[in-house]
Amino acid sequence: MSIAENVTRIKAQMTKAAIAAGRDPKDILLCAATKMNDADAVREAIRAGVDCCGENRVQELTAKQAQNAYDGVPIHFIGHLQTNKVKQVVGKVALIHSVDSLRLLEAVNKEADRQGIVQDILLEINIANEESKSGFTLEEAENLLPEMGRFSAIRVRGFMAIPPICQISTDNHKFFQKMYNLSVDIMRKKYDNVCVNILSMGMSDDFADAIACGSTMIRVGTAIFGARNY
Ligand SMILES: *Cc1c(COP(=O)(O)O)cnc(C)c1O
Repeated sequence: MSIAENVTRIKAQMTKAAIAAGRDPKDILLCAATKMNDADAVREAIRAGVDCCGENRVQELTAKQAQNAYDGVPIHFIGHLQTNKVKQVVGKVALIHSVDSLRLLEAVNKEADRQGIVQDILLEINIANEESKSGFTLEEAENLLPEMGRFSAIRVRGFMAIPPICQISTDNHKFFQKMYNLSVDIMRKKYDNVCVNILSMGMSDDFADAIACGSTMIRVGTAIFGARNY
């Protein structure tokens, strides 16, 4: 199947999952996870109607931006970001999904401040406290959010999470639901530099479950572009 056909099919699946959950399909955006795919593939996905693109590696982001690959949609950074590379990402993307440590938060704030901009970010949450994953624990995030006032060049727009792989597909619901509860809870509070309305969760294999539990942005790679050749 072509990239365009894949995008059309995924959008139909998104609509179906939204309606089944009593949600408005317009409230869920499709972010194409474009890692390992070239500029032409990215352009095809954009023509087919993805809402934004998400890049994982700084090098790929820079190369494809130089080719104007993302023209027409916002570009997001979704991969692990090293503090020594923030200069190449801050101010160059609409949203960083993957702010996973206080150290990175401070580095992004410092660079955004230097550029005189406010950088939109999501806090990445390690929702199952997995050793192998980075991110804030729920408790760390809840303690940090009231302190965001001291990061004047950052605006927290929401949260991102990748739940553990579950043997029974609906076992992931409890993790997605924890994320949804966090975002609803923080939405009700009025913290400086915090304006939450994005919940980034769900990938090729679990986006319907994520939508059922309240995701507002799914990040899909394989189901759009096919298996990646590493
Ligand atoms: C690669 C990637 C995705 C997409 O994964 P697929 O299973 O290919 O849909 C989503 N989010 C992040 C952070 C990724 O690195």
